[in-house]
Amino acid sequence: MSDKVLDIMDSMAQDTVTEKPQLVSEDYKTLYTEGCALFSEFQDWYKGSGIAAANHPLKDFIPFADCGNCDSTRVEVIAAQHSIHPHSGDEYWDYELHCSNCEQFTQRSFSEN
Ligand SMILES: [Zn+2]
Repeated sequence: MSDKVLDIMDSMAQDTVTEKPQLVSEDYKTLYTEGCALFSEFQDWYKGSGIAAANHPLKDFIPFADCGNCDSTRVEVIAAQHSIHPHSGDEYWDYELHCSNCEQFTQRSFSEN
């Protein structure tokens, strides 16, 4: 990761680690037929059964990182959204990872302001 990304992660991103997914339902592995698909809800969310960060459509906008629990790189993105606030122009994003090493879920969120 670049120094800029590490700075962002250190200063502004928040990690939460849980045993169950928070941004998708618990049956996400069977609920979604694709690894990653766009769902336009209140915000545009990419959700799915899991996709490598390197292949995620938002990889150029979100600095996807490793498991928040064990630092493993064996993670798949199961939910992600990236937005620019229409008035302030502030950037914000959220995503959730599943780790196949420790089987925990990491939710990470970032807000520019
Ligand atoms: Zn892990």
